[in-house]
Amino acid sequence: KPVGERVELADLPLRDDLRGRTPYGAPQLDVPVRLNTNENPYPPTPGLVDDVTKEVAAAAAELHRYPDRDAVALRDDLAAYLASATGVPLTAANLWAANGSNEILQQVLQAFGGPGRTALGFEPSYSMHPIIAAGTRTGWAPAPRRADFSLDVARAAGTIASAAPDVVFVTSPNNPTGQSLPLDDLRVLIEAAPGVIVVDEAYAEFSSRPSAVGLLADHPAKLIVSRTMSKAFAFAGGRLGYLAAAPAVVDALLLVRLPYHLSALTQAAARAALRHAPETLGSVAKLAAERDRVVAELTAMGFAVVPSDANFVLFGWFEDARATWRSYLERGVLIRDVGIAGHLRVTVGTPEENDAFLAASREVDR
Ligand code: PMP
Repeated sequence: KPVGERVELADLPLRDDLRGRTPYGAPQLDVPVRLNTNENPYPPTPGLVDDVTKEVAAAAAELHRYPDRDAVALRDDLAAYLASATGVPLTAANLWAANGSNEILQQVLQAFGGPGRTALGFEPSYSMHPIIAAGTRTGWAPAPRRADFSLDVARAAGTIASAAPDVVFVTSPNNPTGQSLPLDDLRVLIEAAPGVIVVDEAYAEFSSRPSAVGLLADHPAKLIVSRTMSKAFAFAGGRLGYLAAAPAVVDALLLVRLPYHLSALTQAAARAALRHAPETLGSVAKLAAERDRVVAELTAMGFAVVPSDANFVLFGWFEDARATWRSYLERGVLIRDVGIAGHLRVTVGTPEENDAFLAASREVDR
């Protein structure tokens, strides 16, 4: 028995606003087909693994020293990547990096949210937005999407204008529903926002729409574009998220970030992985084609499938989504119950994994 086991969570002097909350908890189960956390199913190439290993070895020789607190070389590399991906001239001053985009979002709420302030998001969306709001004691204002999960932009702009939140989250493509927004719609939302607006572009590389980065020049005091290397870059285990914004936004985050938050090993590994961007991102087109195949086959089987611009698909309709989720698991296929009535979400995997998922889909209880 571990020392201290007789003390329970309820016995601790926990903040009242955290009592009764549940932590983020996508199950991490060891099953043959894991399609539940929107990772890239393709492992890094041997060349990338070698390069990361060499760079990490070089960084290890300096581990008695703190890392570059401002991660300037990494931010230079991220700026070069994002500038070439979006056509927008960006420099290290426009970029900030952290341990996953979750930490980016937390720093944004530490700086622009907090006690007495509010963040608004359009649900269903990424479940961590309200959890990070709770952790930073930012009030959470959920606003609705349409019944088909698309965003009624005129209505959303009206909600933003009347609720006047300090921070607005717009996820595009939206997790867990998959739809993305055109720049014209984003412009309407940005103009309605009185404070900052975070466009969470974790899945941007899978989308056919242009990035919100293209709107930064027109809205430097409001817009923050959050991105990650966890999805298209196949670097979820490396933990590297970043944002693009005006340099003043980065100045704001410097006030709340912990010194040396990004380890020397993380910075070295991420830079090595970025050098292999062309080969890694080669999987994006394959995954988009597989997504379209999964959508077509599910549709042919009579499922209701939400159109997706990302590397996952939300589908239904199930009498009891939890029971159907279990019935996939019994067939060795782990997908995600995101808590939307009648629906489940599946991540696009390799063709073999998708075949296994589709075979299970023919058999599960609906
Ligand atoms: N935003 C969205 C919309 C996501 O789906 C995720 C990952 N599930 C993240 C942010 C955070 O990812 P990470 O911390 O790995 O960058």
